[in-house]
Amino acid sequence: MTSPTALPAFKRILLKLSGEVLMGNQAFGIDTDVVAALAAEVKAAKATGLQLCLVIGGGNIFRGMAGAAKGMDRAQADYMGMLATIMNALAMQSALEKLGVETRVQSAIQMDEVCEPMIRRRAERHLEKGRVVIFAAGVGSPYFTTDSGAALRAAEMRCDALFKGTSVDGVYSADPKKDPAAQRFDTIGYDTVLAGNLQVMDASAVALCRDNAIPIIVFSIREPGNLARVLAGQGTRTIVSKEG
Ligand code: UDP
Repeated sequence: MTSPTALPAFKRILLKLSGEVLMGNQAFGIDTDVVAALAAEVKAAKATGLQLCLVIGGGNIFRGMAGAAKGMDRAQADYMGMLATIMNALAMQSALEKLGVETRVQSAIQMDEVCEPMIRRRAERHLEKGRVVIFAAGVGSPYFTTDSGAALRAAEMRCDALFKGTSVDGVYSADPKKDPAAQRFDTIGYDTVLAGNLQVMDASAVALCRDNAIPIIVFSIREPGNLARVLAGQGTRTIVSKEG
């Protein structure tokens, strides 16, 4: 695989965290200690001068596909999944504000009593003022995922990169849990990911990043301190970009 490439200095990034990361070692739900640790990493990243957008999945609480597999109407189940992402966003907001980091949650499903609606210009202003903006409820439509939501918000907020913090430390040639010969890529192209159906993000999310030239950096957020290392151009990660 190709050798590691240094990352350029970014001004604004979108950090996508998988919902399952929030449950720590639990089988389900939100582990507040884990959320507090993640919030500390976000605070440290922000302290480097970055403008930060956050998107958090909902898989630790509810996934639409799982509901549909058990006989639920798919769209109905997907709306439940979107509500799960709002709960995670509120948990992260609470943890960040405990650390003195100003945040705003903007949801693609309007819920005026608990958070702001998604308004791009307002989000822009929050970022300029140094607030972390957490975008909840994905794109606000069923049949999508928070990966697509992350790619969409990264594009409309003109983020320099999309960092995907998940349970694996990058993009592999095959599932590393099933295939011991699977190799991790340091860099890879969008089209190679799409053609090989490699497990990075949904195809729609990868295509949106490709069309808007937004690099995707896939890394493990389970390793403490890894976000700072990856932002500093170190640490184990895969960069998905045009040059791959
Ligand atoms: N979801 C949706 N539309 C969106 C974003 C999310 O329908 O734009 C639903 C979908 O059911 C999904 C669930 O919310 O399974 C939780 O999001 P996701 O699976 O992306 O969470 P993650 O895997 O990142 O934890």
